[in-house]
Amino acid sequence: MMIFCLMTARVLEVRCKSCDRIIFKYLKIGKGKLWHCWKGRIIEDYSVREGEIVKCACGRVIGKDEKKWIKLKPFSIKY
Ligand SMILES: [Zn+2]
Repeated sequence: MMIFCLMTARVLEVRCKSCDRIIFKYLKIGKGKLWHCWKGRIIEDYSVREGEIVKCACGRVIGKDEKKWIKLKPFSIKY
């Protein structure tokens, strides 16, 4: 028998803490803090890339591209 856990899913607007620009629209599933963004769940991506460094258009470093997900800097974003 298979049991499906229905968890809350919602679209988060991940914004830069410096300039308030939207960086990602991200499908967040479940509760808890956002530490990384799975790439498959990023709906819209407004970030600026410099190699594997993910930045806001204002230059603030938001996180790092680690192939499967973007590892976020929790103090650079708000949502
Ligand atoms: Zn910014």
